[in-house]
Amino acid sequence: KKKIAVMTSGGDSPGMNAAVRAVVRMTIHMGCDAYCVYEGYEGLVQGSNLIRKMEWDDVRGWLSEGGTLIGTARCMAFYERPGRLTAAKNLVLSGIDALIICGGDGSLTGADKFRSEWPSLLKELVSTGELTADQVKDCQHLNIVGLVGSIDNDLAGTDATIGCYSALARICEMVDYIEATASSHSRAFVIEVMGRHCGWLALMAGVATGADFVFIPERPREHDWKEDMHRKIGKRKTIVIVAEGARDKNGTKITAEEIKDLLADKSEGGLALDTRITTLGHVQRGGTAVAYDRMLATLQGVEAVKAVLDATPETETSFIAITENQIVRKPLMKAVAETKKCSEAVDSKDFELAMSLRDSEFED
Ligand code: ATP
Repeated sequence: KKKIAVMTSGGDSPGMNAAVRAVVRMTIHMGCDAYCVYEGYEGLVQGSNLIRKMEWDDVRGWLSEGGTLIGTARCMAFYERPGRLTAAKNLVLSGIDALIICGGDGSLTGADKFRSEWPSLLKELVSTGELTADQVKDCQHLNIVGLVGSIDNDLAGTDATIGCYSALARICEMVDYIEATASSHSRAFVIEVMGRHCGWLALMAGVATGADFVFIPERPREHDWKEDMHRKIGKRKTIVIVAEGARDKNGTKITAEEIKDLLADKSEGGLALDTRITTLGHVQRGGTAVAYDRMLATLQGVEAVKAVLDATPETETSFIAITENQIVRKPLMKAVAETKKCSEAVDSKDFELAMSLRDSEFED
């Protein structure tokens, strides 16, 4: 009987529980044993009770739960070979031969490294006497498949990552609340949202709420943003959405404080707006998953189990994507490489759209 384990790693995202539930139940449906590795790679490295066998009912009610019920962690030990050696030993001892990892590009890169090193890890474990040749003889290959769990929607090759639409929905809800008070008091609000490297959340929230300005890490803005603000701002309420990692056209970081200072500037020619900053923080991450994320996680979880069962030692490590509404398998490392390449660019047409549909009735 095959033993398939699932784990969540990196930052949590809504929908991760739905993914774990789908993997556990699909695994059992396919006649295999299902396992969960708790606390991300930390669970692999520590082993023992962090690697647990799961039954059908163990994941009852998990579809709608926020966060990840099996825990996640950033695990320093797994970056180093000795940590991965211990992880390999723990997997062999539990008899697990396939791993499905739901996480961001870091977690999935670690997974690919682990899989490619697997034969040499086993060899070393036997040569150092940690394991016997007999113990490793049935575990010569470790199949790994990735599920992309991230609120940032930051992996190339998939239209959506598990969690991004829940975070976007929450941001929009919060911006709506803030907008009501902003317009009551004729105030400007600078709203900081997550996104250190990828501005998808900020950009889409800008489109979806009709924000006046959006600042993102990909720095597509050709003009000087300070001049732009002076030209365009001047109405009853002003909403500016800024991603944590926002940058100007020269790549210099733009902070919420800096934007506030510009809007609130009372000196001659200044905008002199009563301005507040709201940092949305972790409310964007937590909470229940929207229907789309539950559906995406479930369909992708099912496909991930099929993919690990189909995988051979020759197959490249794959991840499950959604492209044009189809759930598909794609080579993982190609997507990671493309993500790094396109992190400096954003479709400026989308950006212009976000900007141009703003309210105009109160403008100067
Ligand atoms: P998020 O989108 O939230 O940042 P992520 O999966 O990219 O998610 P990371 O912190 O980059 O988050 O990675 C999570 C864990 O994956 C790390 O703590 C580490 O254990 C493992 N990991 C990441 N990159 C590597 C790597 N290059 N080699 C080995 N392990 C890695």
